[in-house]
Amino acid sequence: MRTMQSIQNVDASLQKIVDKVLQQERLTKEDGIELYETPDLWTVCSLANVVRRRLHGDVTYYNINRHINYTNICALSCKFCDFHRKKDQDGAYEHSLDDIKNEAKIALDSGATEIHIVGGLHPWLPFEYYTNMLDAIHSVAPKIHIKAFTAVEIVHLARITKRGRDGNAGISSVLEDLIAHGLGSLPGGGAEVFDDRVHDEVFRGKIGGKQWMDVHRVAHELGINSNATMLYGHIETREERVNHMLLLREEQDRTEQNNCQGKFQTMIPLPFIPGVSELSHLPGPSGIENLRTIAISRLMLDNIPHVKAFWIMQTIQMAQHMLECGANDIDGTVVWYDITKVSTENTHQECSTVDLRRAIYDAGFKPVERDTVYRPVTREGTSWEVAERPITAH
Ligand code: SF4
Repeated sequence: MRTMQSIQNVDASLQKIVDKVLQQERLTKEDGIELYETPDLWTVCSLANVVRRRLHGDVTYYNINRHINYTNICALSCKFCDFHRKKDQDGAYEHSLDDIKNEAKIALDSGATEIHIVGGLHPWLPFEYYTNMLDAIHSVAPKIHIKAFTAVEIVHLARITKRGRDGNAGISSVLEDLIAHGLGSLPGGGAEVFDDRVHDEVFRGKIGGKQWMDVHRVAHELGINSNATMLYGHIETREERVNHMLLLREEQDRTEQNNCQGKFQTMIPLPFIPGVSELSHLPGPSGIENLRTIAISRLMLDNIPHVKAFWIMQTIQMAQHMLECGANDIDGTVVWYDITKVSTENTHQECSTVDLRRAIYDAGFKPVERDTVYRPVTREGTSWEVAERPITAH
């Protein structure tokens, strides 16, 4: 491991940033761009490692979870997405409430602490489908935390219940209903890149950055946590990525100033995977760009406690490297994940707890099982308990 004391032969243009990181000063937009432009990737990753170890020591978190993608039928057709289908298209599906209940039972029996739910913007499913889904899971597995519905799905639910015209009050009312039925937190998907040019070119029709942020702001005001993401490596520039990070940082500042009970707890950089999407002619980001982006996320987002190397999209091997480059979380056991890799024969992507723990140990870190809101889990087989308080970054 390269520690701050042993960082030598630094690219001279980074010296000012090295000093700031050592003195725990906030980095600027120009610093973020410099971190992207320097050839000295070694120093960028080492700096991120210093911050990661300052916050979390050698602890790396993982969880036992199960993903449910309830439908891939979507009213939109974002260019980067190879998950969505139209109603009569080959491979289109929607799960019944019995299917969902069955998944919840399997999650319960496997000792999962979290069910993670996202899906397409189904044009005809009524609002009751979503509240019934939450009720069904709760009836089977009342202890399991339900992390569900990205901001674009929440806006879709506001529209189908005719609450969309009420702006944030409508969003708030939808979220309150979902929370009353057991919603525990929001995932961070759908943020893509907060930039109008990128929005208009690759996901026109989907909500833009402002509306994504509004949904998360309302969720934080209502007292639930959420995650943040950035889908990078398609048509956006590196400067646009830095702007995206700064907008998240500003919003987290606002959340803290307003003493909200909820907040962004984890940043998850997501590499674009071309698959069979309309952008399949693009190569997607390289492994080096993935390391650089996770490291810069850790350095720029000084007020978001956790940075996740989402192994499903990064691979376990790359996620291991990322633990030395700013990441302190590796996500969970997952099982089925339809959002990416749908062009392969199936989307079974399971990693056992033993494999996750071994990957973390092999990388030189200490595995700690967490629940969705970072409370430590004590476990005996499939029975588990959580501590009352979250683990606090130190
Ligand atoms: S990214 Fe989401 S909203 Fe866009 S087409 Fe895919 S499922 Fe639909």
